Amino acid sequence: MRIAVAGGLGTEKRLLSILKGDFVFLLGSAYHLSREKFELYREIDFMGEYLTHNYKNQFLDYDFTFDISQSLKSKFTVSEFALSSKKKAFLLFYQKGWKLFSQVPGGACLSCYQHYERPEPALLWPEISKNFEAAVKQAISSSKKKSTVIDLEKLSETTLKADPDCPAHNGKFSFLTGQMADVVSVSCGEETVGVSPMNEVNLDFEQFKKKLSSFVKIVKENAFFLEFQVGRFNATLFRQGRLLVKGTKEKNTGLFIYRNYVGS
Ligand SMILES: [Zn+2]
Repeated sequence: MRIAVAGGLGTEKRLLSILKGDFVFLLGSAYHLSREKFELYREIDFMGEYLTHNYKNQFLDYDFTFDISQSLKSKFTVSEFALSSKKKAFLLFYQKGWKLFSQVPGGACLSCYQHYERPEPALLWPEISKNFEAAVKQAISSSKKKSTVIDLEKLSETTLKADPDCPAHNGKFSFLTGQMADVVSVSCGEETVGVSPMNEVNLDFEQFKKKLSSFVKIVKENAFFLEFQVGRFNATLFRQGRLLVKGTKEKNTGLFIYRNYVGS
């Protein structure tokens, strides 16, 4: 089998140990903010980048795709890709517990199951369940013709029906076409990376501060922006979701901080 994996959550090694013997392409892995580098993998085909809709053509070569990233947008992108190319996809996400969404050709996609809503910042998610390996094996070996969601705590499986009103099933691919992307811009002169979500965002700074004040140092705030310190980086978050990270020219640093501290 040829398997593509969108990584980021740091559970890449655990997944690779299950996929031994298969040809694996890993796109992105655990990101080390202090060194501004992805964890390197030499034994497989690896690229230190986060998945975007621009990778859809590369992914056509693979039998199925896993998304074990910190970004729900990434999972919607993979789901739309799998739907449009009639392939399988497995998406790990945290929503009131760890879940593994298993999408089969002809079955429900992620948009049938839920609408996109910005998730909690990934650093608030608990450690990945010890049942991760068991759930992956269960999902891969299943011969079900319908998409399912496996609850990792109980290893229980819910069968899903495709929704006739699902936008993706009606040909509207908002993620695969980049309409929902987090657009990154790098200003080398000012050593600043900007991340701007294409979708409408209206952040509640009070909620944000409550959740993150034990992880980041709030530097400044007013009605329009919130400035905080993450390691040696200074980040300014605007109410409409734009994030400016000062002190770097590395776009993946901007994306990592966005996924981890804001939620995408
Ligand atoms: Zn659908």
